Amino acid sequence: MDNIIRDEEPPSLATAMLSTPSAISVVDLKPKAFPPATVQPIRVIHNRRRNRFRLSKASAEFLRRFYPQATADDWNDWRWQNRHRVRTLEDLERIVTLSEDERAAIVRHQGALPVGITPYYASLIDSENTSQGLRRTVIPVLSEYETSAGENEDPLGEDHHSPVPGLVHRYPDRVLLLVTNFCSVYCRYCTRARMVGSAGERSVKKSDIEAAFDYIRQHTEIRDVLISGGDPLSLDDEKLDYVLRNLRAIPHVEFIRIGSKQPVVQPMRITSELTRMLKRYHPLWMSLHFTHADELTPEVVAACGRLADAGIPLGSQTVLLKGVNDDVNTMTTLMHGLLKARVKPYYLYQCDPISGSAHFRTPVSTGVELIRAMRGHTTGYAIPTFVVDAPNGGGKIPIAPDYVQGYDDNGELLLKSYDGGVYRYPDSGARLPIAQASKQEEVISWEHL
Ligand SMILES: *Cc1c(COP(=O)(O)O)cnc(C)c1O
Ligand code: SF4
Repeated sequence: MDNIIRDEEPPSLATAMLSTPSAISVVDLKPKAFPPATVQPIRVIHNRRRNRFRLSKASAEFLRRFYPQATADDWNDWRWQNRHRVRTLEDLERIVTLSEDERAAIVRHQGALPVGITPYYASLIDSENTSQGLRRTVIPVLSEYETSAGENEDPLGEDHHSPVPGLVHRYPDRVLLLVTNFCSVYCRYCTRARMVGSAGERSVKKSDIEAAFDYIRQHTEIRDVLISGGDPLSLDDEKLDYVLRNLRAIPHVEFIRIGSKQPVVQPMRITSELTRMLKRYHPLWMSLHFTHADELTPEVVAACGRLADAGIPLGSQTVLLKGVNDDVNTMTTLMHGLLKARVKPYYLYQCDPISGSAHFRTPVSTGVELIRAMRGHTTGYAIPTFVVDAPNGGGKIPIAPDYVQGYDDNGELLLKSYDGGVYRYPDSGARLPIAQASKQEEVISWEHL
C-alpha cells in the first residue's frame, strides 16, 4: 500500500517547486535535482497484477488465436513476451503469410541482427500485406543482402570514437553509453546492425561498464550521458538501477537520458517497479523510438503515460523510411499521435547508409519537404528536427527548409512563409551569410525538387 501511494507522487524536484515556491532558490534545488551518491540499490518485488495493462481488443484476439495456452497476465509480463519472441521461420509462418522474398531472406540469414519480434509487436503486423510499413521494418527481405554504394557496417564511425568498449565520445560534452546488444524487436534498418543481436544477445560485460564509468569520472567535461544499446530497457531493473546509480554518483553528470524502443515494442516493460526506480535518478529524460502511428496502441499510450507520470520528459526519434513513413500524412499523423501520448517529437533521422538499407532510404530532400509540409501548418510542438548523421563520425547535422530568400535593395530581409507568401523584415546590423544573386536561383531550383 505504502508503495502504491509513493508511486503517485510527482518527482522530488516538481514537488519542491509546487509546494514552497518562495523558499526555493537555485542553491536549495541543487541537492534535490542531483540526488546524493548514496542512492541504495532497489529491491524489486514483481507484482503482476498491479502492473497490468488493459488488453486492447486487438491484443486479446491475437492472444486467443496464437497463444491459446497463455493468460492475460502472461501477455502483460514482459519476460513472457521475451521468452515467446518470434525468432524463426516456423514461428513467423504460424502468424503471417510470408512472400517468397521474405522467406528466402530469413532462410539465408546468419550472424547479427536476427529476426526478433515480440508477440505483442507481431500482433500489429498485417499478416497478408507485405507492403505494410511495420511489417517491412521487422521482417527481412533479400534487398538486405545487397550493399549499395556508400554503405558500410559502421556508417557513423562509432567504433573509431570509442575510447573504451561500449562508450562513444563524439561530442564535446556528452557520451553515448551502449549497455547491451539485445533488443526484443530487431529493426531491419538498424544503424548498429553490426553489433545488436549478435552471438549470445547479452548486456555489455561488467568490466567494460566499469571502465566506461571510470572514463566518465575522469572526463569532467561530460555533463550528459545517453544510455543506449541495443535497448537499455531490455535490462532488468537491477542492472539498469546499477547503471543509473553509478552515473548519478558522478557529480559532473548533470543529465541522464535513455534511448529505448521498449515502450513501443513491449509496453508491458513499463511496470510500476520500473518507473519507481527510474524516478530516483532525475533529471532523467527518455528518447523513444517510433516509426509509424500504427504503433500508438492503447497499451503504448498507457506506457508513455506511466513514464510521463514519473516525471520523465519524453522525446521521440524516428527514422525516415521509404514506403513506411515518408509521406506527409503518415508523418503528421505520427507526430500528432505522439503529442497525444505526451511525447515531444525530437529527431527525424535520415536513414543511415548501413549495409543493405538502400530499400529503406529516401533522398535527403524528402525529409526537408516533410518538415516544410508540417511547419506552420500545425503546432510547432509536433515538428522534429530533421538530421543527417554524417558518415565517419561527423555527428548529427540538422537540415531545415530554407525560408530565407535574400535581401532586397533596401537591405530588408525577404522571408518566405509557410503559406507561400514572401514577407519583408526590417533587419539591421550583420547580414545573414547569403550570396544574394545565386540565392534567388537556389530558392527557385529548390522548389522544383
Ligand atoms: C546522437 C548522439 C548523441 C546525442 O546527441 P544530441 O544531439 O545531444 O541528442 C551523443 N553521442 C552520440 C555518439 C550520438 O550519436
Ligand atoms: S531498437 Fe534500436 S538498437 Fe534495437 S534493432 Fe531497433 S534500431 Fe537497432
